[in-house]
Amino acid sequence: MRRLFSAVLLTLSVSAVFAAGQQPQTADGASAARADAWFGERLPMGLGDPHRPILDVSAAKPAAAVVPAGEEANTELAGPAVRRDLESIVGISRADRARGEKAWGRITGFRAADDTHAWVLQQFKAAGLKDVETQTYDSTQPTWYPKAWEVKLLATDKAGAGSRDVVLASAFPTSGSQLAQPLTAPLVFVGATTDAALPDVDVKGKVAVQTLHPQAGAFSERTRTTERARELAKRGAVAVLNVVEQAGNMHVRDFSNSGVPSFNVGTDDGRFLKAVAEKARAAGVLSELRVSISLDAEMRRGLKGHNTIGIVPGRRADEIVIVNAHADGWFDAAGDNGDGLAVLIALARHFAKPEHQLDRTLLFVASGGHHGGGMNGPGNLVTMNAPLLAKAVLVLNLEHIAQLHFQNDPFRVNAAEQPMGFGISNEAPAIAAIAKRGMQRYGFALRPNFSNSTAGDLGGYAPLGIPRVQAIHSGPMYHTSGDTLDTISTPGLERAARFYAFFVTEVSKTARTALQPDAPRNR
Ligand SMILES: [Zn+2]
Repeated sequence: MRRLFSAVLLTLSVSAVFAAGQQPQTADGASAARADAWFGERLPMGLGDPHRPILDVSAAKPAAAVVPAGEEANTELAGPAVRRDLESIVGISRADRARGEKAWGRITGFRAADDTHAWVLQQFKAAGLKDVETQTYDSTQPTWYPKAWEVKLLATDKAGAGSRDVVLASAFPTSGSQLAQPLTAPLVFVGATTDAALPDVDVKGKVAVQTLHPQAGAFSERTRTTERARELAKRGAVAVLNVVEQAGNMHVRDFSNSGVPSFNVGTDDGRFLKAVAEKARAAGVLSELRVSISLDAEMRRGLKGHNTIGIVPGRRADEIVIVNAHADGWFDAAGDNGDGLAVLIALARHFAKPEHQLDRTLLFVASGGHHGGGMNGPGNLVTMNAPLLAKAVLVLNLEHIAQLHFQNDPFRVNAAEQPMGFGISNEAPAIAAIAKRGMQRYGFALRPNFSNSTAGDLGGYAPLGIPRVQAIHSGPMYHTSGDTLDTISTPGLERAARFYAFFVTEVSKTARTALQPDAPRNR
């Protein structure tokens, strides 16, 4: 009964909208169904406002940060203060999209990344850091730059006389994709990346659609998705669409080229494609479904990357602790790595206060090129500042440290931060002990078992041969347009800032032999 009632309501609202001659948009931006179009299937929701979270996160309120007695005065580490900087950082990405960049972000080699470094430079100077500068280095390889593209399901009367072309607004080309001329081809559905094998269907001259259903970010299906796309290309597919089953319609920036132009497509666009294809198959008109694809992408040469650095002198100048956060990111990049960069600024302000001066000198680094091939920030920092970095005893990396906890099946958000893995490259017990104490003191969301994994921005520091330390995670929003400001926990920013202020303070008090128990000179 209830079902019938809502069906009547839907019909009413749809005809009311059509009377005004408009697109059948519902209040939340999703497009309603129209009985004579696309077999009556609900149209895709479009991209919506990609600066807002893909899920309603307003009810996800993590517990307030713990402020131990005696630390109340450290207001530069308070959540709202750190969040204001995060807003400034995310604002640089938003401005990039407002300028018309379809693949927006704070992308190394492009204006928004340069603006980010200019902003960091200003913050370091205002905090009173010494020897503040932005260092510039050249890219060693061309950078793929997608300017414009469109993936469109072409209207056919066979799906209903009212069917119109449907643009898949979430489509995002995979890295390296190139297409000299727009193409039009029939669709073929080839199942899920988790299927044992590709189905025995002819993909020659067709656009192959495969689905992936990641539990973490799309990266967790990277190998399977890319290898399968390459196989489809080998069998003659002219393009591949990867439907990423998460929530809503997000741009997903992942996977490298498969040999033919490939695009990641959001959940709602995938839902529409699949539903229309099932009905077309049942009606015996599946071969009538065709998509047109255009892509304007170029390889940019001569790009420049930047590292912005500043020093807080300690009581001794001969030993340095490096605190690093990568400044670049894709889309709004609030969690990768706006949160890490905002906490870097908070720590710079904290330690620049004379009452917080440490024994060791601190080198703050906002690095470039984390997401840009041939422009690695830490690698260039190490080669450009050899005498200074020879004094380093430990490097700490701040990366993806305050994002709300998202999970799939069903797609949901928890009122807590995403648990992070803590990695210590040399597994020094003294370093682990400091982190354990900090974890208990501030409730920082670390998984209990630490490792020696340093995936992330620490790779470029490896030649220094010193312990490299970080907390990191990669959740469902990783490298998507869903990585927005409101997916970041403000108490989580404060937990991170206070935890790391404690960590750096304690590391500075710890003997080098304890930080580097296996170093030849310390044995
Ligand atoms: Zn990152």
